Amino acid sequence: MDENSNPRTCHRRDCDEPAAFVVLERYQEETGHGAVEAEAALCRTHTAEEHPANLDGVYADYVFRVEPLPEATATDEDE
Ligand SMILES: [Zn+2]
Repeated sequence: MDENSNPRTCHRRDCDEPAAFVVLERYQEETGHGAVEAEAALCRTHTAEEHPANLDGVYADYVFRVEPLPEATATDEDE
């Protein structure tokens, strides 16, 4: 876990695009170990292909969220 020093690139193995979004899914592990958060930084194309992958683990606090990375939205504002 040492990805803070570089600009993020897409999490997909074959993709070198800069990451534009973070996709987060929080679900309940079926083994009963509690909530799991799976987070991946992805380029725009691969973010569009993402979808909830752990609907078997849905619980009250289930989350599937796509957040734009700050770098990806910094183009039209100066501050
Ligand atoms: Zn990608």
